[in-house]
Formats: sequence, structure tokens, C-alpha cells
Amino acid sequence: MTLPNTAVVWLKRDLRSYDHEPLSLGAQHKQCIVLYIIEPQWLVQPEFHPTHLAFVLESLEVLRANGIPVLVRHGDAIEVFEQLQREVPFEALLSHRETGAFWTYQRDLEVAGWCKQQGVLWQEVDQTGVVRGLKDRDGWSRQWEARMARPLHPRVTSIPAPPGLAVQAIPTLAEVGLSTPGFTVQRGGEIKAWEVLRSFLETRGVGYATGLSSPVSAPTDCSRISPYLAYGNLSMKAIVQFTRTTLDHAREVQADPAWKRSLAAFLGRLHWHCHFMQKLESEPKIEFNNFVRSVDGLRSGDLEPPDTQTLDRLHAWQEARTGYPMIDACMRYLQEHRWINFRMRAMLVSFASYHLWIHWRQSGMVLAQRFLDFEPGIHWSQMQMQSGTTGINTVRIYSPAKQALDHDPTGAFVAKWAPEYSTGQGPAPIVDHTSAVQLAKQRIYARRKGAASFAEAQQVTELHGSRRRPRAKR
Ligand SMILES: Cc1cc2nc3c(=O)[nH]c(=O)nc-3n(C[C@H](O)[C@H](O)[C@H](O)COP(=O)(O)OP(=O)(O)OC[C@H]3O[C@@H](n4cnc5c(N)ncnc54)[C@H](O)[C@@H]3O)c2cc1C
Repeated sequence: MTLPNTAVVWLKRDLRSYDHEPLSLGAQHKQCIVLYIIEPQWLVQPEFHPTHLAFVLESLEVLRANGIPVLVRHGDAIEVFEQLQREVPFEALLSHRETGAFWTYQRDLEVAGWCKQQGVLWQEVDQTGVVRGLKDRDGWSRQWEARMARPLHPRVTSIPAPPGLAVQAIPTLAEVGLSTPGFTVQRGGEIKAWEVLRSFLETRGVGYATGLSSPVSAPTDCSRISPYLAYGNLSMKAIVQFTRTTLDHAREVQADPAWKRSLAAFLGRLHWHCHFMQKLESEPKIEFNNFVRSVDGLRSGDLEPPDTQTLDRLHAWQEARTGYPMIDACMRYLQEHRWINFRMRAMLVSFASYHLWIHWRQSGMVLAQRFLDFEPGIHWSQMQMQSGTTGINTVRIYSPAKQALDHDPTGAFVAKWAPEYSTGQGPAPIVDHTSAVQLAKQRIYARRKGAASFAEAQQVTELHGSRRRPRAKR
């Protein structure tokens, strides 16, 4: 087959040169343009934060340093493609399939229309275990396994860029009109991503299975690969294959059982990544609507704007002045590091959703901005799961005091991040724990009763439910 002369590789959340199928395909064309578009529409989304773009820009710098001359343009996708078409006519567009927020889905529809009109052939390929056009979850895990076993694409180190196309310096945040955030965050780019994964698989990971739930041990015991997956500095397939090789080796040499337990638990989480993203792919409306409609209108802010009491509570929660030391400490840690471990994320959401009765869209937006690793598919599914609106998951309400006892037994974490409580200066609890939990249970279980609610839950299980027992519980 003769390849078109000029191809554009459109980078999205796949900022790497290793195991990157569109780049490998693009490099075979006579001319190839590697393009990243800073879309104004992204920058105005309520879940966007400048730390997200800073991470992207760092990742692009690393790609350039590794021999990929990424062209960075700022503008609406269609306008950028039109301008580029005038500069260097191209016949093929290559990219990874994206499971993203609704605005990206709409933009992709427009791009598909434009390509058709222009006679540009747009080829999209998969980059995770997420399957497009799935009817139910039967056989999904098998497909995931098959995809993860596919060969890795070698690193692309050079691209036949069109000679006349000027590739300007990558813009700074200030040049895009944003101020530089001064937080202690993970740095972007493929080199750092591999350093982090390697250190986890070589040494740090040994404590994973036991250390992942405490905010004290999790920052080093967890892999910390989430932003590298969210922006595609690492491919899921590569991580799975390297982890399996490490686990095989640990078994061969009869390594410390803690290693084997940790690596197996980690592999389970990698599977979850795609399992949760698949939910948004299969049912995009879960970004906005409850999984089951029998809980519609349960919380203020669902069918109408939130009331004043809810807004006051939301502000107290996001500004870390709830009167619950563990909640406020975690919120401040997250604010500074733009990451916190799974258990503490679940606790923060459980507190907002049950104790404060805040709708998951409102609390979810605050967290989306604060998570450097914001990944719509995982985020909105988890927000709903921790808020009791999926209809199929056990209602789990965390006690902040018990979480503090279990995961910060010396009190050092709270003392560092919410010191006002050690001196008795902290605010009084915003709600009473026991009565708030009792009321939340009554409200949730009242909606879970009845044949209609049961039938809806069956449908959710059909489309989204896991068909195998989870390997680990946390
Ligand atoms: C309310 C809520 C919102 C969340 N939002 C996000 C999000 O926007 N982006 C995101 O990447 N993760 C999200 N998570 C899942 C999880 O908390 C993070 O993936 C994890 O803390 C990231 O740290 P790590 O890479 O060190 O994780 P590790 O424990 O080392 O896990 C490795 C990888 O497995 C995947 N993973 C781990 N736990 C889960 C899980 N419970 N569900 C799905 N995938 C998982 C992630 O890709 C993670 O990077 C959310 C969890 C909750 C409770």
C-alpha cells in the first residue's frame, strides 16, 4: 500500500515517544508533522488548572529534547488544522482514541467532519484497554489481557519533518495568559516518568500493599505514576509488561513475599484504571448525570443550583475548615501537592457527599482542579461510587476520626497539615458525625428500595459491572 505523502500526528494525552503507535506509523510517511494543540476550550473548563498545562508543556519539552520536533499551536482544533493545511497540505491524520470529557468528544466529532470534507484520512488507534462501541462487559477482561500482551512499539527518535515548517519555542504559561502555580508537584515528561516507574519496580514498591492507605506512607509506597498515565508519558501496555516481568523475576528468585503481594496488587490497580475509564466510554453522560436516575434530586445542586447551606458547606470543605482535623489536613496536603492517595480521596468525597450532603459534581470539580492526574473516566466514576449514586456499589461512609486513628496513629500528619487543632484553635465540627451519617443512610437507602431501583441497578451491572472478583480491596 502506498502511504500518503504527508501525515499529521495529533498528540493529545499521549505525550511520549515510546510505545506510541501513531508516531511509529507517522514516521513511515514521506513527511510527518507532530502537532500539539493548546485548545482555548480546555483552558476555560471548570476542571482545568494551570498545573495541568504546565505538566503538558514540560512533557513537550522532553519530547523535543528526545528528537521529536513537536509543533505547538494555540487555537481551536479546526482552525489550527485549516491553517496547517494551508502551510503544508496533508492527507492523513493519526492519533490515539481519547476517552475524555464531553467537550473533547464534541470536538472530535467536528474534526471527523472536517477531515471528511477535506479528504483527510483520520486513523485513530487504541492506547489503553478501553474498548469503543462495547455493548456489555462480557469478555472485557479477556480483551484487556490480549491488548496488554501486544508487542511494544520501539521508541521513535526521528521524524521526517517537512523542511519549510518553522517549529517555534514551546510557549510558557505566561505566554498562554496563565500565571505559574507555585505548588510542589510532580514534573512532567517521559524521562521523569520512567525514573518514577523504575524506582517503584526496583525498590519503593515493596511496601505498596501495606503502605498505600496511609497519607504518611503512600507518597513513597504508591507508584505515583498517575499523572504520567493521565498525560500518556507512559503507555499502559508498557507498564503492565514491565510489571509482569518484574513479578516473574520475583517469583523465580523467591523474593520477599511482600514484593509478590505488592506487585500483584499493583497489577490489579492497572486493570482498574481501564475498568473505570470504560464506564465513561460506554456511557458518557455519567460525567453529568447519576448512574441511576432513582437518586436524581437527592442532593441540592442536582436538578437545580445548590442552595446557600450547601454552598457554605462546599466552601468550608474546599478551604479546609470543617472542624474535622483529618479532612482539613488531607485537603491542605492535596492543595499543596496536587495528589493524595486513594483512601484519603475516598474519605474526602465520602465526607462531602454523606456528612455534608454536597452533590458529587460540585465537590468533583474542586478535586478535578486539584488532582494533577485528573482523568475524567476514573474521576467521575469514582466520584459517583463514593457518593452512592451508582446503584450497584456498597455504600461506604468513612469516619474521619477512625481514618486518623488507623492511618495517622501518631498524629504527625494532622499536626503538620492542620496544626491549629493541636493548639485548640481549630473550628468546631461543621456537622455532628453520628447524626449526619444516620441521616445520609436513611436518605440513600430510601431511594435504593423498590422494583424500579432494582431494575436500574441490573442495567448498570450489565453495562459497567466487573465480571471478575476484584483482586484487592481498599
Ligand atoms: C474520588 C476519587 C477520584 C479519583 N480521581 C482520579 C483521577 O482523576 N485520576 C486518576 O488517575 N485516579 C483517580 N483516582 C484513583 C486513585 O486514587 C489514583 O489513581 C491514585 O491515588 C494515583 O496514585 P498512584 O499512581 O500512586 O496509584 P497506585 O496505587 O500506585 O496505582 C497505579 C495506577 O493504577 C490506577 N489506579 C489506582 N487506583 C485506582 C482506582 N481506585 N481506580 C482506578 N484506577 C486506579 C491509576 O492509574 C494509578 O496511577 C480517584 C479516586 C477517587 C476515590
